[in-house]
Amino acid sequence: MIITQDLHVHTNLSPCAARDATVESYFEAWRLNGTNTVGIADHLWDESMPNPCPGRTPATGMKETLALKERLKNVDTQGIRVLVGCETEYDYARRDIALSPESAAQLDFVLVPHDHTHLTMPKELCDDDRKHAKFILDAWYDILNSNIVQYITSMAHPFLAASETEVSFKLSDAELREAMIAARQAGVGIEINAAALFANTKNRRIAEVLALDNMRVLRIAKECGCKFTFGSDAHHSSHSPLFHCNYIVATYLELTDGDIKLI
Ligand SMILES: [Zn+2]
Ligand SMILES: [Zn+2]
Repeated sequence: MIITQDLHVHTNLSPCAARDATVESYFEAWRLNGTNTVGIADHLWDESMPNPCPGRTPATGMKETLALKERLKNVDTQGIRVLVGCETEYDYARRDIALSPESAAQLDFVLVPHDHTHLTMPKELCDDDRKHAKFILDAWYDILNSNIVQYITSMAHPFLAASETEVSFKLSDAELREAMIAARQAGVGIEINAAALFANTKNRRIAEVLALDNMRVLRIAKECGCKFTFGSDAHHSSHSPLFHCNYIVATYLELTDGDIKLI
């Protein structure tokens, strides 16, 4: 199986990305990765939402994202299909996605993280792994129950809370199975995210990644018939080679072309 789509790339519209991470800076890396389709997925909080972006959730807006989409019409993308979507945010105050249906309809794809808990979760839940795990499980269902669920391409880095330790081990196989079946029924894909698995604070080696509880999560997703997308989650072109690590996970899960969600 060849992985042809990297649907999770940040540019300098994301406050956390490198300032020189322009679309143009990535072309050579994308070509070397063997990808023919890439998705720009900057952190986005739709400015038309009733709640403003919380101070600790830095993100860009629709205005900048649509301007990028417009600008790319005049850029030679060197034979690579460049899509402009977003990695939007879960708005805990509304228990919904920080994106309007009108905005979602203007994007090529939508990734939603349910587990940016370092940004979105009340601090008092941080110290209790079960409460933390329950928070991301509840967010999962809030997202699937959104009135824009039909626009969601994939759940970004599912059940891999952006914290130092995993909390998914506090969720049973049955809870995860129910969650994955709900995603499949909603037509929402499951992302395999090279950076979150291999590089997020730890620079993990293969054996360490395969020992993560997140492999149980992804295995259950496969058993439940979910479709997968892949992301580098690069924040600079020098991060792009990590995309190859997705092959390790795909091999471990014995994914075939039929398990992949292409856009
Ligand atoms: Zn993320
Ligand atoms: Zn990301």
